[in-house]
Amino acid sequence: MTKLDGKIAVVTGASKGIGASIAKHLAAEGAGVVVNYASSQEAANRVVDEIVSNGGKAIALQANVAKKAEIEHLFAQTQQTFGRLDILVNNAGIYEFSPLENITEEHFHKQFDLNVLGLILASQQAIKHFGSTGGSIINISSLVSTFTPANASIYSATKAAVDAITKSLAKELGPRQIRVNSINPGMVETEGTHTAGITEGEGRQQIEAQTPLGRIGQPQDIAPAVVFLASADSAWITGETLYIAGGLR
Ligand code: NAP
Repeated sequence: MTKLDGKIAVVTGASKGIGASIAKHLAAEGAGVVVNYASSQEAANRVVDEIVSNGGKAIALQANVAKKAEIEHLFAQTQQTFGRLDILVNNAGIYEFSPLENITEEHFHKQFDLNVLGLILASQQAIKHFGSTGGSIINISSLVSTFTPANASIYSATKAAVDAITKSLAKELGPRQIRVNSINPGMVETEGTHTAGITEGEGRQQIEAQTPLGRIGQPQDIAPAVVFLASADSAWITGETLYIAGGLR
């Protein structure tokens, strides 16, 4: 018997990067997984195909997780397909960098609408579908919530908000046996960090030089901890922020 037999999970932003690895790891432990994506349908289908070819259960569902109506639809479709929900991984997130002079309302709202409001609205939907035995919400926050690098004030603020929401919801939802934890990764090599150009060159070298374990992370460095926080192995853990950053603080 695997750790998540009979459980159903929604992973937001699971067509790429950290989310894709989380979806595969949850499925490998027996969970049925909803692979949510915003626009990368082919990539989401590839994640589903890999899970299914390894004997797992998964479907791809499109929804922009910054929009309430699309979030509601995502959870309604999940309920229709699988008939239950046990795990929500709030992974979908964007990171943009800007010095103070160039910050715009758009830069602010784009990141807060997805990283913070989307996470809250998805959690709001998830708890409606969790059964009487509760559930587990895992928020993918970031090292930046406390490392607070230069030119990342808005992105860091979204993740500091995620840490506060995690702790507050853990207290609020604990009596219903719903656990809420966050994972705070350091720099991880993903499609997103490649596009942002931050996993190459001097920036990467600087991070690696400051990191006790001497390298940046890979998606598979993060996903096993999500399995742990989703499973009964962490039954008495809630409101925690787990840093996975090679020792960097
Ligand atoms: P990524 O490679 O850029 O992938 C982002 C994923 O999120 C994609 O599957 C994308 O789907 C989806 N997505 C984007 N906007 C969405 C929306 N509005 N609705 C639904 N899905 C959406 O990202 P990543 O680097 O793996 O990062 C994932 C999470 O980890 C983020 O919350 C990020 O802040 C956090 N994190 C990352 C790092 C890092 O160094 N990589 C470090 C710390 C924390 P589409 O392609 O379909 O748009």
